[in-house]
Amino acid sequence: MQREAMPVDVLFVGGGPACLAGAIRLMDLIQSHNAAIDAGGAGERIAEPTIALMDKGSEIGSHAISGAVMDPRALDELIPDWKQQDPTFVERYVEEETFVVLTKTMAFPAPMMPPGMEDHGNPIISIARFQKWLAAKAEEKGVMLFTGFAGTQLLWEDDKVVGVRTGDKGIGPDGQPKSNFEPGIDIQAKVTILGEGPRGTLTRQLMNRKGLDKDSQPMVYEIGVKEVLEMPPGTVKKGEVILTLGYPLDLNTFGGAFIYALADDKYAIGLLVELGAKDPAMDAHYLLQKLKAHPYMRKKLGAGKVVKYGAKAVTVGGWASIPKLYADGAMIVGDSASFLNPARIKGIHLSMKAGMLAAETAFESLKRGEATESVLKAYADRVNGSWIREEMEPSKNFHAGFDKGVLGGMASVGMSLVFGPGKDIKPFDADYHHMRKTAHVHGHKGYPERDEVEFDGTYIVDKLTDVYHSGTKHEEKQPSHLKVVDREVCATQCAEEYGNPCTRFCPAQVYNMHFNEATKRNELHIDFSNCVHCKTCDIRDPYQIISWVPPEGGNGPEYGVM
Ligand SMILES: Cc1cc2nc3c(=O)[nH]c(=O)nc-3n(C[C@H](O)[C@H](O)[C@H](O)COP(=O)(O)OP(=O)(O)OC[C@H]3O[C@@H](n4cnc5c(N)ncnc54)[C@H](O)[C@@H]3O)c2cc1C
Ligand code: SF4
Repeated sequence: MQREAMPVDVLFVGGGPACLAGAIRLMDLIQSHNAAIDAGGAGERIAEPTIALMDKGSEIGSHAISGAVMDPRALDELIPDWKQQDPTFVERYVEEETFVVLTKTMAFPAPMMPPGMEDHGNPIISIARFQKWLAAKAEEKGVMLFTGFAGTQLLWEDDKVVGVRTGDKGIGPDGQPKSNFEPGIDIQAKVTILGEGPRGTLTRQLMNRKGLDKDSQPMVYEIGVKEVLEMPPGTVKKGEVILTLGYPLDLNTFGGAFIYALADDKYAIGLLVELGAKDPAMDAHYLLQKLKAHPYMRKKLGAGKVVKYGAKAVTVGGWASIPKLYADGAMIVGDSASFLNPARIKGIHLSMKAGMLAAETAFESLKRGEATESVLKAYADRVNGSWIREEMEPSKNFHAGFDKGVLGGMASVGMSLVFGPGKDIKPFDADYHHMRKTAHVHGHKGYPERDEVEFDGTYIVDKLTDVYHSGTKHEEKQPSHLKVVDREVCATQCAEEYGNPCTRFCPAQVYNMHFNEATKRNELHIDFSNCVHCKTCDIRDPYQIISWVPPEGGNGPEYGVM
């Protein structure tokens, strides 16, 4: 098959904060380098650099979902006068923050925010609008943006990464090309920078082939589900942030919730739940509805109407999970490399800084005309010498503490505040090891009845209504991008042992068990067009037989404002 080849100098994969900040930084470095040479300085110009950035969303920001309160530290370094440059992504600046512990019926506001979680004066942002704003800056500086292109394979020359192949478009469900078939493109790059967010497809190909995670702890995750609620005019408190702990999660399940006041009479509410939850029936979307039904939440938000929904995994292993960050021809940035501080649930600034440090290294590599491991190693050195390490290393054992339950985790956080985090990184397991069988958790096969929340279609909504709010769309006539290697396991062993947890943990009701009259048993049915690309199934499935691969580029959620 003839494939178009497109040579570029540097390719950024992913249009999130990590790669966008990296692309801007790289362009700034090249432009000041060339200007210095034009003014008579030593060295050679980097003439007409081709810097490309690709994203699988139909537009930059289509697949973007976050909280989000941003620590502006990295943005201050990248674009020091950003506040004067019409920051359309800022909803509000934080004015009032409260930390609340919830029991099933009561709410106990804490006298102050826990240490390190204060955000007074920081911007509450729309991540999608932030990415669009950054993308416009990158484009002005000459970065080529390719949206609607999913990277599906790394290109290799011997053991060196030499670019990315994008997915074919126009393949039918039977795997055969349709009349609109368009083969993917080979984007050949001197340096490839992977910033695909959590559980990146190409990142995993690279890590598996090169064993980049052999000396780090496994990547571990929480699922974040979020809704935006339209409120009656005048009922949203300007700059308000509320963080909660406790209900609807039990003491065996780590997570927490947030409420952020947005502009235009809107509130965002989100819940994060560990993907290592022991209960196979854990259903983050349902738990979010239970949270909204709590008297404290109903009083605050009950007059609201859900207008937007989304879900995404969050990388929470922190410093302990950061893999080797480079290989011949490639570097990994952002959430793909675990650059998120789990103690603050903040990753935007760390991802951006990692992208900027990778860009500085790519710039050196372009000047030297070499992208070997020994040149790209400077990226890891830069991370180790930066404020990323200063911020992340002290909470290196945060996840390991919560591995032993919520109370054990809180005790461990308290101890580390008093005595420091200790010298060594404490080990932990990948999330899927933690799920327990239904008989163990519930004392019987299958799941207990759920009858605690009443869906009203506007404030408390069911999954399918929320899938509609996510705007997700997929070309129906393509192979499913959710690959289950052995569906027999689903119908037999998994049904018996775990009760088919995919029907619960998927926040978009993609997985359903349908009764098959011929075989007289429930069998797995996959509604892949509902998928919001959160990657939960790939992470949490206890048998590790589900793989998420990118569908046709441009398919997926349309978050827009999340
Ligand atoms: C619910 C929730 C709340 C959060 N709250 C906060 C908060 O308040 N503050 C904070 O600082 N952080 C928060 N975070 C974390 C923060 O959003 C991330 O740390 C940050 O977005 C990571 O940036 P990134 O560029 O590494 O990846 P991402 O933002 O995930 O971007 C990756 C991009 O790559 C694209 N992509 C992936 N694979 C491919 C491929 N193969 N080919 C082409 N494109 C691809 C995706 O479409 C996506 O646009 C939150 C996260 C969630 C989910
Ligand atoms: S199918 Fe998998 S990736 Fe898609 S929404 Fe469900 S859990 Fe998330």
